Amino acid sequence: MKVGVLAVQGAFAEMETYWRKKGADVFEIRQLDDLERNMDQLALPGGESTVQGKLLKDLGLFNPIKARIVDGLPVFATCAGLILLAEKIEDDGSRDETRPSQWFGVLPVTVRRNAYGRQLGSFRTVGTFDGKTDVPMTFIRAPAITKVSPEAKVLSTFNGEPTAIRWRNITAFTWHPELNT
Ligand code: GLN
Repeated sequence: MKVGVLAVQGAFAEMETYWRKKGADVFEIRQLDDLERNMDQLALPGGESTVQGKLLKDLGLFNPIKARIVDGLPVFATCAGLILLAEKIEDDGSRDETRPSQWFGVLPVTVRRNAYGRQLGSFRTVGTFDGKTDVPMTFIRAPAITKVSPEAKVLSTFNGEPTAIRWRNITAFTWHPELNT
């Protein structure tokens, strides 16, 4: 399997290691040419979603990647990657739902960035993921999914809120599966 990892900012190295351990043939997406390679799966890493969005625009990657996602390319996204995909963002506790143009806005969820506040900004827990129990989950300045389309399958929850979902071609996490395997 050929996995293209978005490598413009953030924790892309960890994402690459994760997919290599699974036996995937991994390449980095840094510029437009990289999208010419065969890709079975796109991986969107954690990081800073505002910076990633801006870089995607500046590098001319935003529209071609969005088109591939809408076209059905399987996507695996964590944290900032989930934020980039979300249809709606509630920014930092303010309840204004916005949809800035730097976000792909294709996944029918609302997310609240940095949802766990300063004290619980980053933490680990153990939970059930996709039917598997005792799965370690690392949250790093994670968003919360505050609304989710009934069409999406919820794969894990924390405090009753969804923390991983699958919808059509997209699997997205608020936590970091790539850090615990
Ligand atoms: N807090 C970051 C954001 O808002 C996401 C953090 C992460 O990807 N680990 O983009």
